[in-house]
Amino acid sequence: MAKKRTKVGFVGLGVMGTPMAECLLRAGYPLSVWNRTAEKMEPLAAAGAKKAVSPEAVAKGADFVVVMVSDDAALDSVLFSEEGLSRGMKRSSVLVNCSTTSPTMSWRAATALRSLKVHYLEAPVMGSAAAAQEARLQMLVGGHRDDFAKAKPILEAFGKEIHYVGDVGKGATMKIACCLMVAAMVQAFGECFVLARKAGIPFETMMEVLHAGPLDSPLYRAAEQAIVNAGGRPTFLLKHMQKDLNLATDLARQLDVPLPLASQLRQMLTTAKNLGKGNEDYTAMLDVMAAWSGVALRG
Ligand code: NAP
Repeated sequence: MAKKRTKVGFVGLGVMGTPMAECLLRAGYPLSVWNRTAEKMEPLAAAGAKKAVSPEAVAKGADFVVVMVSDDAALDSVLFSEEGLSRGMKRSSVLVNCSTTSPTMSWRAATALRSLKVHYLEAPVMGSAAAAQEARLQMLVGGHRDDFAKAKPILEAFGKEIHYVGDVGKGATMKIACCLMVAAMVQAFGECFVLARKAGIPFETMMEVLHAGPLDSPLYRAAEQAIVNAGGRPTFLLKHMQKDLNLATDLARQLDVPLPLASQLRQMLTTAKNLGKGNEDYTAMLDVMAAWSGVALRG
């Protein structure tokens, strides 16, 4: 289908959704957008998108609707509330859920949409808002292969690393497993940091060692930036990472898999959230480690 004739809708213009919607505009798709907090639609409207009054209005006439909201409850609301997407999506259109949500939510959404002859694909993403701006997100796709083939040109607007993981639920599951690794790596960074700092090793020396050897990782570079640029705009909210660890421990329970590390990480993130850090960057986990260890995170 030619891009100019492929109508795309986008719901959820947060930290990730805004640059992803911009990618679709840059790729030449006619775009209609909706966000719960209406002001967040303004930059997209200024760039050429059409503002819609509801998710239902976004869905009207769209061939594809991409959703990038925070969690299961948000997805449920934008899909199935009174003016939800399910009220407006046309037959044979495809709903592409890029949010990090549970496989259970995916199965429920896919089943409900199938009864309306609407196709469901999950494509949660790996990568930051900066990666979204530069169209280099990695996508982990779950759904029917035919729906994937149909939606691939849309996904290519967000990045080139697109992995078909399996049927509905598998993409969500792979993403949750990856989130677990991200949280574990940040926690490991924090423990390395407090040990080195309390022993009097300068931060710059610690980072020099991490960057130069087998431990080098973009994640540790991001953690370094978060420490150096304290007070900057959060890139990934701590409350979302706590949600991801909740998803991991729920899934572990369903599959009867022991995940001792995930339980500890969940407790760490719940502590940080209850200390008022839910709307800070996820690297605020490090503040908790520093406070427990009696060292300053910065300076
Ligand atoms: P965010 O900035 O907090 O944006 C969340 C979006 O969801 C906002 O548009 C928000 O609307 C909307 N929303 C929340 N509850 C809603 C509800 N009940 N009804 C309608 N809309 C609702 O989060 P984000 O960082 O963009 O993350 C979005 C998703 O991507 C999450 O699942 C996250 O885990 C995942 N993710 C994030 C990153 C990252 O680096 N940030 C990376 C990979 C994956 P309002 O504007 O009205 O609040």
